[in-house]
Amino acid sequence: MVFIKSDVYYFTARTYSHIESMSKVKGPLALKKIGIEQETKNSDKIVIKTHFGAEENTRYLRPSYIRFLCDYIKELGGIPFVAESCGWGVPGTGGEYGGRANEEEYLEIALKHGFTEETMGAPLLMLDGPDGIDYEIQKINGKKFNEVLVAGRLREFKHLIIASHFKGHSGSGFGGAIKNLGIGCVSKGGKTQAHMGKTFKFAFDACVSECKECLEICPTKALTKNEKKELKFDKDKCRYCYMCKSVCKNKVIDIGSSTPEEFILQMVDNAKGVVDYYGKDRIYYLNYAIDITWQCDCCGGSDIPIIPDIGILSSKDPVAVDQACIDLAHLSLMNPYSILSEIKNLPLRNEKCNWFSYIPRFNPENNEIDLNYNGNVSKQWERQLIAAEEIGLGTRDYNLIEVKVKNE
Ligand code: SF4
Ligand code: SF4
Repeated sequence: MVFIKSDVYYFTARTYSHIESMSKVKGPLALKKIGIEQETKNSDKIVIKTHFGAEENTRYLRPSYIRFLCDYIKELGGIPFVAESCGWGVPGTGGEYGGRANEEEYLEIALKHGFTEETMGAPLLMLDGPDGIDYEIQKINGKKFNEVLVAGRLREFKHLIIASHFKGHSGSGFGGAIKNLGIGCVSKGGKTQAHMGKTFKFAFDACVSECKECLEICPTKALTKNEKKELKFDKDKCRYCYMCKSVCKNKVIDIGSSTPEEFILQMVDNAKGVVDYYGKDRIYYLNYAIDITWQCDCCGGSDIPIIPDIGILSSKDPVAVDQACIDLAHLSLMNPYSILSEIKNLPLRNEKCNWFSYIPRFNPENNEIDLNYNGNVSKQWERQLIAAEEIGLGTRDYNLIEVKVKNE
């Protein structure tokens, strides 16, 4: 069997003057290196999928990184759009994803974080529609799933740029390009399924006859009550937003649960569904490996980064670009002021120290984060990469091509 390595371009975060700017120069150049210029025709609609950050998060990508990508797309003759997707839960409640449950409330957070149509010079939108229920079903032969709820508005765009903040994640070990596909480019229900699996069962006998909460929240009238006040579920009308589950206080609706291992496999399955639906040739990956916290941008904690900034990496292969970020991160010194410094006997630099093996992790037994002061090793980061390679998303084998901007 012949293994072909994927090219990954690397632009260091070290910058001596404005001609090496990370936002205005290196970001667009990283995109150019992976061929967007040749593929862009006049008036092509190009969508940049990024993350606007949870309300209290301060380590999300600064808006100017995305603004300069929009400007570059316009220079090429394309029409840029900036996108996110709706979070899990019910609007107005904070929700499991923290007040980002539909377009209206997520755009409010985007505004607070500096992402607006004015600052981007491009429209903002939710890829799964204003309520998170616009999706296309993609069949896959996945590790856990055989179909994926791909965010429906992807259908409108010629090219997709996955602009990811590379950082840790308490469930999947890290978040980068794969996670931006598997969580960021699926519908609201697709996110829930990644976290919980596809269980969706009703204990009809437990339903309280006078209650109408789920009927009122259901956007498609898939839930009704008959004259005897018995709950009825119409599968054909359901758009899998799982808001009924969020409002029911009586344990009628069971959406299952998943181990961290299952979460990773389900997220990777979702990512495969997105790529199979959209077409791998039309997707471009940019990883901004800066502000590398142990938490993801969905969390409000925004702790001190665990290692120094690395730079921008770009590739046509989501697995290769994530693997390259991990490898560079593991060659780095640990930040002596970060949470890793609180683990006894963990040296500042040690070839055997894969920093992402030590970050805090979600403990499903008590539903809390284990801050891992004992320094137990967890290989969730590696599990994600192995699963992604096994399912055919890309290769962990890559050529790292460092680009010196002064020479360009
Ligand atoms: S039945 Fe539940 S999951 Fe289905 S559309 Fe209605 S609220 Fe959403
Ligand atoms: S919210 Fe729960 S108890 Fe109320 S009607 Fe719906 S399923 Fe029944």
